Amino acid sequence: MRRASYVIVAALVAAACVGVVAHAQQPAAPPFATTKVDGTDNVYVFRYGNHQSMFVVTSAGVIATDPIGYGRPQAVVTYVDEIKKVTPQPIKYLVYSHHHFDHIAGGKPFKDAGATVVALKRTQERLAQIKDPHTVMPDETFDGHRTITLGDTTLELTYVGLNHSDNSVVMRLPKQKVLFAVDFIPVGSFPGRGMIDAYPLEWEDSLKSVMSMDWEKLIPGHPGAPNGRLGTKQDVQAFLTLLQDASAAVKTEAQAGKCWDAVEKDLKLPKYESWPGYAAGLPMVLRRYCALWGRGT
Ligand SMILES: [Zn+2]
Repeated sequence: MRRASYVIVAALVAAACVGVVAHAQQPAAPPFATTKVDGTDNVYVFRYGNHQSMFVVTSAGVIATDPIGYGRPQAVVTYVDEIKKVTPQPIKYLVYSHHHFDHIAGGKPFKDAGATVVALKRTQERLAQIKDPHTVMPDETFDGHRTITLGDTTLELTYVGLNHSDNSVVMRLPKQKVLFAVDFIPVGSFPGRGMIDAYPLEWEDSLKSVMSMDWEKLIPGHPGAPNGRLGTKQDVQAFLTLLQDASAAVKTEAQAGKCWDAVEKDLKLPKYESWPGYAAGLPMVLRRYCALWGRGT
């Protein structure tokens, strides 16, 4: 009996050591990766560094999204090459998720390949103001909702209101029950810099709209935590709760006259301490809610 216990303990210790060693030796993620979404036969995630986008191979060509080429044109060349490795079909569309350059700069290789660039009308207005030399202007725009049907595939584009930006588009594949939504639904991580130009109250409503849609898997614009996972409706609910908790915490302090300095220095959200990005993101979250509840903006 004693000997058996010893063997079990030794085995557990050995397993724990192997676990530690395996973890220590885990290689860094490769610079880019193309991954087919489980349960589909034509939906892919292209990741480059810490950004990612979705592409769909249909019977009549490819629908690509966000070129993710800000400050790194080679990412877009790689993206087009990766699509060509998967299919000989031509790239017919490039759809923008919202106007932020880290997601949509660098689209020229798609344009050169013959893609029609599609964006929300408000996205085009934003781009026309700034005239970023590296960002391709849309060829076609829409307001509210548009459906792209290509071969055997339907992709729905829907504006779900103000949130992380004023022009975030949700892309839904109804048959595959897959959603691509960028930046306004972080999967498993704490929000940060993206709060700066966000609309916090309306954001909550847009998350509720997304939860009312019919889908099962969410491809986020940045790899989900942990391990680059995709998201579920539980992640949307968890993030909505996070925004509500942060908002309520700051509201109380703001209305007691504690914004900006005291809140930014002292307020913590311990429930979210373990979320990746918490330490760096907390000051930005607090500042945005101070602007809302302590200033009225
Ligand atoms: Zn963004």
